[in-house]
Amino acid sequence: MLKVVIMELPSFSANGREYIAIVTRSRNKNAYARVHGNIITITIPYYISNNSYESIANDLYAKMRRMLETSWHADILSALSIKNNSVLNVMGTAFNVHTSEKELKAASSGKIAGREIYINVSKSLPEQEKQAKAARLAIRLVSKAMEKPVLEKVTEINARYFQSSIKGVRLRLADTVWGSCSPSNSIMLNSKLLFMEEKFMDYVIVHELAHTKHRNHSKAFWKLVYKVIPDYKDVRRDLRSQNFSFKT
Ligand SMILES: [Zn+2]
Repeated sequence: MLKVVIMELPSFSANGREYIAIVTRSRNKNAYARVHGNIITITIPYYISNNSYESIANDLYAKMRRMLETSWHADILSALSIKNNSVLNVMGTAFNVHTSEKELKAASSGKIAGREIYINVSKSLPEQEKQAKAARLAIRLVSKAMEKPVLEKVTEINARYFQSSIKGVRLRLADTVWGSCSPSNSIMLNSKLLFMEEKFMDYVIVHELAHTKHRNHSKAFWKLVYKVIPDYKDVRRDLRSQNFSFKT
């Protein structure tokens, strides 16, 4: 559906990304803000009068901006603290990080060779941006390297408990979800899970695989999750405490 942009809000940068924000109106009951990629869409219902939608839009914008600026991206990007000769431990594999600053046309460039990660960031970036860019790139490179072991893990859990036909498994540095399962059973897992306790990735994998049987969060769905992870409620609560806004 084509959306008419009725207002634009200031763009800002967070987590090594430039976010833009637009406001649109719809028949929905509630006003909400959503982020997809680097675009924040704020949707205001038609019934809200012309003289009050602006303050509602500004409010949602401020909330979303604060969330993005303080979200786990910020946490993980600073927690990873990509420095030259640092080591990243991911699911039992240690990656050696080599960084350097160069004159680059792009903000950053890099590659991974076995367990060695090479990252170049542009000299001209502000210091804080350098960190964020390097961390974002490191996460992407590690995600690529971990695709196979993660696929093996999903395949194993699936064979054991679900026996569904899976189209594929992707790791992606997503903004608002821990994972997803498409109607054709293509599974996406948030790259952040690679850097967290293993129980979280296990839970998200089981959650998404359970969606291959139930495309909702019905009682039957949760019963299935419970059969595989009896203490899933605790894991889910801990996962939620990492960031309130993430969904599975
Ligand atoms: Zn779900």
